[in-house]
Amino acid sequence: MARGRDLAPDALGPTIVIGEILVEIMATTRGLGFLEPIPLLGPYPSGAPAIFIDQCAKVGGSAGIVATVGDDDFGRINVARLQADGCDVSAIRVSSDHPTGSAFVRYREDGSRDFVYNIGTSAAARISLTPEAQSLFERAGHLHVMGTAFAIPGAFEMIEAALSAVVARGGSVSLDPNLRKELMGQGQTAERFASLVDRADLVLPSGDELFVAAGLDAEDPSEAEAVAALFARGVGEIALKRGEHGSTVFRADGARVDAPAFAVEEVDPTGAGDCFGGAYVACRRLGLGPAEALDYANAAGARNVAVRGPMEGAGTRAELDAFIARTPRRS
Ligand code: ATP
Ligand code: MG
Repeated sequence: MARGRDLAPDALGPTIVIGEILVEIMATTRGLGFLEPIPLLGPYPSGAPAIFIDQCAKVGGSAGIVATVGDDDFGRINVARLQADGCDVSAIRVSSDHPTGSAFVRYREDGSRDFVYNIGTSAAARISLTPEAQSLFERAGHLHVMGTAFAIPGAFEMIEAALSAVVARGGSVSLDPNLRKELMGQGQTAERFASLVDRADLVLPSGDELFVAAGLDAEDPSEAEAVAALFARGVGEIALKRGEHGSTVFRADGARVDAPAFAVEEVDPTGAGDCFGGAYVACRRLGLGPAEALDYANAAGARNVAVRGPMEGAGTRAELDAFIARTPRRS
């Protein structure tokens, strides 16, 4: 598509994402780590790309995912959820050699989290360009790139293949930086990440990711500088996530929309950004304007933090409408 224009319409083909599917198992008590037996709750379907695409499908967007799960219940619970919510699961490979990825999480008293992950040695890290994945690429209308995929070997090559196929069809590209800072220093990650920013139509950073995405390492860059730097690189739209402070959309044509967050009690912040992104991308592709799409995105993020489980709060359009109608906004 011509850069700086709106995202490709939903009718061109599904929004697709490539990356990890996991289960999350969470401690029901707050405290430090897992050094003694504690009550746990789960498994819950999880993985940033999976949460994103589930919300995208639930709100009514066409959606598909390329990922690998194990031949086990942790895989089955994820595939069943995604399928029930309307996501194309044809390109989820089932590995007979590796178990589904997992993340055990426990919140500390101060809100920070301890994790025990099994991703690198799980099925989640065994994505490959199967015929089903190639076929999904060739009918997709939009590629969403999750920065978390950079932790998976071979993911960048898959993203490149998807990007070529999608752009060749006139499709569009979005990027959620969602990248751990430590990864940026490794191998070709920084150049690869920058090359994706250069080709993204929409970027959805959270907090400091705005500056990372803009490639600014000045001591104290302003938000306006970072936004201008991204537009100079051909990005058409930026949806900046500000947690409990809501979000802002900036457009290359100068338009700006600020939206306060909804007033909810934060029960479990995991997945807010992914739900926000899934709702925003789907709504924009379905033809909603930035302000209306941002309302749904804020509602999706807020609804998700108000319930336990990383994707349990993802909402249908009707559920988000009901949430918007009954929930006050923070001032
Ligand atoms: P994640 O932790 O999933 O990576 P993120 O950092 O990418 O999230 P956030 O800014 O935390 O993204 O959340 C995305 C959106 O969800 C926010 O812009 C806001 O609309 C909503 N949201 C997040 N936290 C809260 C909260 N405590 N109260 C209300 N809304 C929230
Ligand atoms: Mg994020």
